[in-house]
Amino acid sequence: MQIIHGKTGWIEVICGPMFSGKSEELIRRIRRAQIAKQRIQLFKPKIDDRYSDDDIVTHSQQRLPSTPVTSSPEIIESLHDKTEVVGIDEAQFFDDDIMDVCNKLANLGKRVIVAGLDMDYRGRPFEPIPRLMAIAEYVTKQLAICVHCGNPANHTQRLTENRMKIVVGSQETYEARCRKCFEPPESEDATEAAES
Ligand code: ADP
Ligand code: ZN
Repeated sequence: MQIIHGKTGWIEVICGPMFSGKSEELIRRIRRAQIAKQRIQLFKPKIDDRYSDDDIVTHSQQRLPSTPVTSSPEIIESLHDKTEVVGIDEAQFFDDDIMDVCNKLANLGKRVIVAGLDMDYRGRPFEPIPRLMAIAEYVTKQLAICVHCGNPANHTQRLTENRMKIVVGSQETYEARCRKCFEPPESEDATEAAES
């Protein structure tokens, strides 16, 4: 028999390429927690201003209000005592501090649901998501549909020549591609973040 002492928290990671429904899945889990009358808080990094300043918005136009933060430790500072479920979207834009933050929250007994890109536009692991996957209890890998051939799409194809690692954009800048149709960029990376 398993005896569970006290309420334990845990970390769930939802990863995959753009358009794979990461934000939809995050919103689905958060809405179900709300139905169960659990107290939730949602966060996202300030850099992602694609559709709206404060809301988490999916490509299918679902939305939930969230708190934009400039760095992940702000999540701990903004945490209410009674919060039971913490959702974090676009977590690839945080640095490695996000791991400490998620561990702290889970150790406090919170359910932590983190969504983010696991590969960048070159098809390389996009930290800190791979590290978060390692420390998480649950990992869900989502796929989109390749817009060229309809196969499962694991890649985010950048459609512009911009070589900054972070270029915030949506359908006009990126599309979902399978491994056969993905064309990694040939030229070197530039260093700073940019708007598309
Ligand atoms: P993510 O957070 O992973 O970028 P979203 O949850 O914001 O994804 O959006 C997922 C939605 O994107 C889908 O339900 C669908 O309406 C839309 N979509 C657009 N292009 C694609 C595609 N190529 N494959 C799958 N879904 C797509
Ligand atoms: Zn394809």
